[in-house]
Amino acid sequence: MNLNKKTVFLIGLSCLFTLILSVRSLSSFKVVFCDVGQGAATFIQLGSYQALIDTGPDGRVLSCIGKHISYFDHTIETVIISHNQKDHNGALLSLSQKYHLAHVYGPAPQPPFLDDSQFTEVKDTDILYQNSLTITIHKASQSSSSINDSANVVTLKTPHQTIFLSSDISGGELKGLMPIGTTILEVPHHGSKYGLFPDSLDLALPTLAVISVGARNTYGHPSHEALDILKAKNIPIWRTDTQGELEINLR
Ligand SMILES: [Zn+2]
Repeated sequence: MNLNKKTVFLIGLSCLFTLILSVRSLSSFKVVFCDVGQGAATFIQLGSYQALIDTGPDGRVLSCIGKHISYFDHTIETVIISHNQKDHNGALLSLSQKYHLAHVYGPAPQPPFLDDSQFTEVKDTDILYQNSLTITIHKASQSSSSINDSANVVTLKTPHQTIFLSSDISGGELKGLMPIGTTILEVPHHGSKYGLFPDSLDLALPTLAVISVGARNTYGHPSHEALDILKAKNIPIWRTDTQGELEINLR
């Protein structure tokens, strides 16, 4: 094979590879808990639709998304920010520079780099429908002065699964907010001892607990208190600090 033929062959091969990856992402329905270190970023892929709940602190979310989104897709349809702390919203600007963010839901103030038409302040509850997926965004508390307890929590409901993303709310708030029938719980506040109380799971018992947490973080997350509560209820625990990125197929 001469050089030109070899070059054409390699270009053709890489195009084919890109096409296969793109077709694969178009047919997938999954949730990915990105490994963004200490923070949270949850990516939903439903065919050509993508949603991201929180961005984590920095550009690590971009490499996570890049692995799952089609090479030809430069739009993230829905971005939800739970609250304005760096471990949850720190990469929003860099995300907006790499992708077109069709719509962002979050707390005030509106980020200056987003247009009015791109941003909705979550004041109570917003519900989004996308084929078989229903996304409910709910401001956890209207009255709390705590930025964590007034975060936006998110429920992802499919015909077979209910995923509750609890941001950094405390264990007391969780009990009344987590839907009955939740299958996957993102454990509040990275597994902080304030995120799960012994009675937090009395009303709804998830079948899987996911903890989005950085390895060797200085907060001591996840706490042994939170882990003990989950273990006592025989709930399997998946952790981004020990397992890296966590991907779950949805249906
Ligand atoms: Zn946090």
